[in-house]
Amino acid sequence: MFSKKTVKDVDVRGKRVLVRVDVNVPLVDGAVVDDTRVRASLPTLRYLVDHGARVIVVSHLGRPDGAPDPRYSLRPVRRTLQRLLGRNVVFVDDIVGPEAHEAVSRMVDGEVLMLENVRFDPGEKRNDPEFARALASLADIYVNDAFGAAHRDHASTAGVARILPAYAGLLLAHEVETLTAMLTDPARPFVAILGGSKVSDKFGVIDRLMDCCDTLVIGGGMCFTMLVAKGVDVGDSIVEPEWVDSAKATMAKAEERGIEILLPVDFVVAEAMEPDAETRIVAREEIPDGMMGLDIGPTTVELFKNAISEARTIFWNGPMGVFEMPPFENGTRQVALAVARNNRAASIVGGGDSVAALKKFDLEERVTFVSTGGGASMQLLEGVPLPGLTALLDR
Ligand code: ADP
Ligand code: MG
Repeated sequence: MFSKKTVKDVDVRGKRVLVRVDVNVPLVDGAVVDDTRVRASLPTLRYLVDHGARVIVVSHLGRPDGAPDPRYSLRPVRRTLQRLLGRNVVFVDDIVGPEAHEAVSRMVDGEVLMLENVRFDPGEKRNDPEFARALASLADIYVNDAFGAAHRDHASTAGVARILPAYAGLLLAHEVETLTAMLTDPARPFVAILGGSKVSDKFGVIDRLMDCCDTLVIGGGMCFTMLVAKGVDVGDSIVEPEWVDSAKATMAKAEERGIEILLPVDFVVAEAMEPDAETRIVAREEIPDGMMGLDIGPTTVELFKNAISEARTIFWNGPMGVFEMPPFENGTRQVALAVARNNRAASIVGGGDSVAALKKFDLEERVTFVSTGGGASMQLLEGVPLPGLTALLDR
């Protein structure tokens, strides 16, 4: 159960509501090229509008240097939000200055106002109490719906929540609920698929998943550190030598608990990580010196697909290979397809590159849940508290 109060637990009519969303979308030449995050913020914004709140939208965009920078203005996002929300969105070129206050004072119930990029103020990332107070002075209540930024201890994600009555938005609540339910009460078998380049990024997550999953499928660059721990010579594949001992400990723990770890048995190898590289398929013990494994091989694909097809809960984070390049995309595509085809399982996908892979293969609509938060979802799964969540009012 979600332990925080949500926007549905408070009467918002006529109130000035400061809503922190994460509409940190990619821009190309000032145009929004992927509106996923804006769409994800709609349920909460619609709820507030429909319930007569005065909705003040705040977000970051990119990584400006604590000062106004036209490349990171939220102005183009206003147009996208306005179109998707189907109502007028007023924009001010200001965050907490007189212009913002002036615009807020003119608002009527059900109106939406968007402030400029909150990271244009150096107080945002520092979580400067004075900046948090300035933000709070714009509103009566605070709603955090920025799951993708919930792992940040910033003024607009955490600081302001200590000043105003603070509630969770619907996206944030749904993200936390889905990921928490997966860890606490998964339908079995629960198959967790992990990949990506570095095992060191994911040890915390792997450790926590071992408390609840039945099978751990490991591909991507991270599998080579595990294979080295098993005494396999992996040629020039990516390895983190300082993590070999932890990898051994992980495998011992899995064995103790009866968790099956599936590692690749063959690879697509090449001399260089290049889009036109010449490739070969080799068994995992036969990776030649001077070559590296850049994707899982066809026998591994079958092995992984079988495990995935049996699952009732699937969590997937981390590509199986260098999916950005055509010669090494097949393993990730096949795994993504297998996840999509298992209609009996609740399938949850998290991680920036994994979600990018799903989009690339046009499978985003075919899984149960796609997390909008890369870093935040990993931190939640590791069991590390999210500052943007802890600061909210308890139920
Ligand atoms: P996510 O963002 O989904 O959490 P990661 O950031 O951990 O995923 O890892 C994604 C990256 O891992 C991709 O850029 C991919 O190219 C890289 N990768 C996957 N397999 C390999 C491999 N065998 N060797 C090197 N890099 C790999
Ligand atoms: Mg990544």
